[in-house]
Amino acid sequence: MPDALPEVPPLELPALGELLERAHVVRLPLHRRFRGILEREAVLVEGPAGWGEFAPFLEYGPQEASRWLEAAVEAAWHGFPAPRRDRVEVNATVPAVPAHDVPAVLAAFPGCRTAKVKVAEAGADFATRLREDVARVAAVRDVLGPTGRVRVDANAGWSVDEAERALGELAVVGLEYAEQPCATLEEMALLRRRLAAAGTAVPLAADESVRKAEDPLRVAGLEAADVVVVKVAPLRGVRPALAVAQACGLPVVVSSALDTSVGIAAGTALAAALPELPFACGLGTAALLAADVTAAPLLPVDGALPVGAVAADPELLHRFRAPADRIEHWRDRVRAAHAVLTSASAAGR
Ligand SMILES: [Mg+2]
Repeated sequence: MPDALPEVPPLELPALGELLERAHVVRLPLHRRFRGILEREAVLVEGPAGWGEFAPFLEYGPQEASRWLEAAVEAAWHGFPAPRRDRVEVNATVPAVPAHDVPAVLAAFPGCRTAKVKVAEAGADFATRLREDVARVAAVRDVLGPTGRVRVDANAGWSVDEAERALGELAVVGLEYAEQPCATLEEMALLRRRLAAAGTAVPLAADESVRKAEDPLRVAGLEAADVVVVKVAPLRGVRPALAVAQACGLPVVVSSALDTSVGIAAGTALAAALPELPFACGLGTAALLAADVTAAPLLPVDGALPVGAVAADPELLHRFRAPADRIEHWRDRVRAAHAVLTSASAAGR
């Protein structure tokens, strides 16, 4: 068990006025509904080191949002640590579609040799879902061939018993790992012991249950997973995320949610700075957006994203400018998050 969380000193914060002066609020259309929304709003901010993104999900309060603001300030005012690689392999994502739709879905990710397949979606009964999941995963294996890597993501949709049975069947196809099979780390630790006892060779990855800096350390302490999925913004930026990854001692997969290409560039910066990067990252999400803040979105070429700065395009920031009331809403969120950070640093954190 790693003893303690690494101390990463907070970065110097620009004054609120400067931050607001440099902020642009956009509203970007999505291709289809994601997390219940059809449009994604974000604040893009240009600082002396480049562009940063502040886009905490709407349900997050100031405390949580302040972590995302730190990540934006790191990108725009401080820049990223030196990269160890110039491209980052990314995975294709296969939603819970019927098996016969799989070839068409994968065709949208040219060159990707790793696919993440959604399983355990809500709806039908367990046995019916499992039958469909097995057919979908087998179809992905058919397309990728024996050398492709296939991982599944259950988004916490199974109980321990269900996960044990489902992964027992899915393992036949050859799985790289199973992401968040159950909701809690305690359940995953139990599942992991049961899979080992049954001789089912499927490593587990923690995603949803790892959102705070302390969580990846709990994963290691409980022996709940073999891999940890991390996102930059909830962990306060590339440097703190790097420190957490090293402290937990497990391989890391960097992923994004609904970031613009500016936010995804922070993910590629983390992936590029990690000492080891044994798995493809979940950073191929720019395709979820029907519009982006750059004319050259970070979409995979030959299964990988380039590492490097992404600048927002003033013309696109103008074209997708959010309505006035939403701009005021986001400026208020920046103010509240900034106040959290300012009082934390006044209190000596
Ligand atoms: Mg996931």
